[in-house]
Amino acid sequence: MSEELPLRLGDRQPSVVKLTPMLQQYLRLKEHYPDAILLYRLGDFYEMFFEDAERASRLLDLTLTSRSKGDDSRIPLCGVPHHSVQPYVQKLLEHGHKVAICEQIEDPATAKGIVDRKVVRVITPGTVLEEESLDPSAPSYLAAVIARAERHALVVDLSTGELRATEGESLGGLEEELGRLRPREVIVATGSLDAATLARLPPTLRTSELPSEAFASERLSDWLEKRLGAGAAEPWRARPLAAAALGALLGYLDRQLVGTEHLRAPEPYQTEEFLVVDDTSRRNLELVESVRGERVGSLLWVLDRTQTPMGARVLRRWLLYPLLDPARIGERLDAVEELSGEPALRDELALSLDGLGDLERLAGRIGSGTASPRDVVRLRQALGRGEAVQTRLGDVRAAPLRRLREAIRPLPSLRDLVARALVDVPPLSARQGDLIRAGYRAEIDELRALRHDGKSWISALEARERARTGIGSLKVRYNKVFGYYIEVTNPNLKLVPVDYQRRQTIAGGERFVTPELKDYESKVLGAEERLRALESGLFEDLVRDVAQHLPEIVATAGALAELDALRSLAAVAVDGRYIRPLLDRSTSIEIREGRHPVIERMLPSGRFVPNDVELDPDRAQIVVLTGPNMAGKSTYLRQTALIALMAQMGSFVPAERAKLCVFDRIFTRIGASDKLARGRSTFMVEMTETASILNTGTPRSLILLDEIGRGTATFDGLALAWAVVEQLQSRARAKTLFATHYHELTELGGLLPGVRNYHVAVKEAGSNIVFLRKVAPGSADKSYGIEVARLAGLPAAVVARAREILDQHERSERSLSASLRAREGDGRAGPMQLTIFTPLNSEVVRAVENADLDNMKPLEALNLLAELKKQIKP
Ligand code: ADP
Ligand code: MG
Repeated sequence: MSEELPLRLGDRQPSVVKLTPMLQQYLRLKEHYPDAILLYRLGDFYEMFFEDAERASRLLDLTLTSRSKGDDSRIPLCGVPHHSVQPYVQKLLEHGHKVAICEQIEDPATAKGIVDRKVVRVITPGTVLEEESLDPSAPSYLAAVIARAERHALVVDLSTGELRATEGESLGGLEEELGRLRPREVIVATGSLDAATLARLPPTLRTSELPSEAFASERLSDWLEKRLGAGAAEPWRARPLAAAALGALLGYLDRQLVGTEHLRAPEPYQTEEFLVVDDTSRRNLELVESVRGERVGSLLWVLDRTQTPMGARVLRRWLLYPLLDPARIGERLDAVEELSGEPALRDELALSLDGLGDLERLAGRIGSGTASPRDVVRLRQALGRGEAVQTRLGDVRAAPLRRLREAIRPLPSLRDLVARALVDVPPLSARQGDLIRAGYRAEIDELRALRHDGKSWISALEARERARTGIGSLKVRYNKVFGYYIEVTNPNLKLVPVDYQRRQTIAGGERFVTPELKDYESKVLGAEERLRALESGLFEDLVRDVAQHLPEIVATAGALAELDALRSLAAVAVDGRYIRPLLDRSTSIEIREGRHPVIERMLPSGRFVPNDVELDPDRAQIVVLTGPNMAGKSTYLRQTALIALMAQMGSFVPAERAKLCVFDRIFTRIGASDKLARGRSTFMVEMTETASILNTGTPRSLILLDEIGRGTATFDGLALAWAVVEQLQSRARAKTLFATHYHELTELGGLLPGVRNYHVAVKEAGSNIVFLRKVAPGSADKSYGIEVARLAGLPAAVVARAREILDQHERSERSLSASLRAREGDGRAGPMQLTIFTPLNSEVVRAVENADLDNMKPLEALNLLAELKKQIKP
């Protein structure tokens, strides 16, 4: 029977085609998933048809064929083998497609008419659970975002079942949070994010819009109450937006046919509970990746010595969400301290955790119904390791270690059940058979015996027939098309008895069957079929039993992951000679012999020069740091921020002694020209970033300003830098480290209370300089720009001429502070007259002096020249 269906078949196709029942079934299924590429299971292949086929064949480099349908309509078609479908799915996801997987849900051998099929799963970037598609050490978040009446909510879920939701007032905060979380996929309520915001999101991020009706809190209430009983949704009444976003997320998962069993009860959180490190600062400080986008060279690279992927993810989360509560920080530090002091405990934990695997994501696959027999075996092994860890933690003292010990549930009876049910190395899929252990179920043993006996039955038959016919070369064989048959070679055909029925002629012989053989065949094949059905049925039961224990498994995974992260921090602390920082509620910091954790690791041991840092709201709120290029200014700034951040994540720090306060935000801004190499920044970006600091910094913030004001003509930059320092000193009151090549800024040290000058020392050796890397009070007596240029290999004549020009300039220039004081005395708030204190020629000289020839592109040099020329024209 065929129906007439109007179809869109691509440009070349007629619009009406007669369809086979199979294609009708395909279209019925596809109708429900118009936005996904449908993989239609057909025997050993997943096939795609029509437009899906055309698109996929291009993206996946598959041969596009077609099914001819009698008349001259041709249906485009392509397919991939079912056993290696995962890489193809992955590629489609990377190209932004969703993928619907359609399986045969009855046995083709016994099905009457067309095999029944069903879409069993829809895979999207944020709902992939397959191990091959996930980065083991990074979370895979699916987020839902909604904004209504000035408030927004954000919800995340990940493959591990963690569910968190936050609500807030600023859209900027939401963007920051998306930047920090880097979800793989975001569901956005229509109209919640404007086009500009969406455009700012990372290009790798997939967004799908859902109508705002999909953001319904009722779905969350139902889900919570079903799992946890009446009243479970109560706490979410106060957070209606977050509840709505959670509802949308659950609905989305439901539609993707992803089980939600493994999801933990959602936890509300506030971004203000954590140290805020905005996007730019996170990149500048190279927290999880270096500026080149690599893991090597990042803080995470130094700190991550975890043994399990889930531990690596916890460590990464701690790094991105440092704490604000000194008590909680102290607890983590207690645990790190105890583990640091116990090398044997550390080693034994490492041994147990090593190879334990990703229990969290295993739990995710159990809960979502995608677990393989191998996953279940690995789960059993991981729980066994968990037991060893728990035992080893018998007498720990630190409260968090004791808590983690108690949270581990080794589930011995469940492990026992799995051990009895499954063989040690089962196949990847339950349908492959041979996964249930002998002795677990009598019927399986019997069926297997039948299969096994089959072999001897066949050889007995072969021997018997050889004797009966006198054909010594007679063979009993099996193939998929004919089943069992007897093969006789040509010279012996005359000996074939009459009860042999000929089935096939082959080169060199013929194939026969006998009624006895066919009888046997149906018995054996029936057994095979029954065996496979039994095995996969038992496996499903087993997964259901395991799923009953998901809350305990998830808790165990979480505890082992945290333990792994703490152990990693302890190991790094011991090897790097880090110390426990002291955090108090004061507002000052004092670091003795602090080091940069990453640069120290990259230099030969002992070569890093440690430095002290003191910041204090009264005496040293702002430190202006001067010193020649390459002296170590940026390093000093960053190590201070890294030490503060490490402490707040609960890590020991690279220093001899560190007394710290709790910072609410860390900002780092790097002058535009420093960033030109990365090709992303302009002066405008730099100023936007500086504006955000001045607007959001608080007295509890730490601000690093590294050569800001560089991206413009010298005097503009200096004036801006000056004004920024004034503002920080009087308004924001944030603790600030300001590295600058503007010597004039050091005059602020004499003008404003709380501003202190430091410099990175260099030693002059003849006309050469040696970098000492030591930070000392006072300002650098000169900028050494010329010396550095000499080191860089500038011709001697140019160096000499530059010295001459500099001398002249220094003699002619009036001091900036003097002119500023003159202006204050004046009481006028109007713009300063450039010519008052910067004669035209000296400005030109300054521009030349400050030109960073090493990093200047030819075009920039030309621009500079043009600029200078403009300035000397009367
Ligand atoms: P600046 O910002 O003053 O130009 P950087 O901080 O970028 O200088 O430092 C330049 C290089 O000097 C770094 O890449 C590092 O190799 C080295 N360096 C900086 N500080 C130290 C230090 N304290 N000990 C050893 N080497 C250092
Ligand atoms: Mg620098």
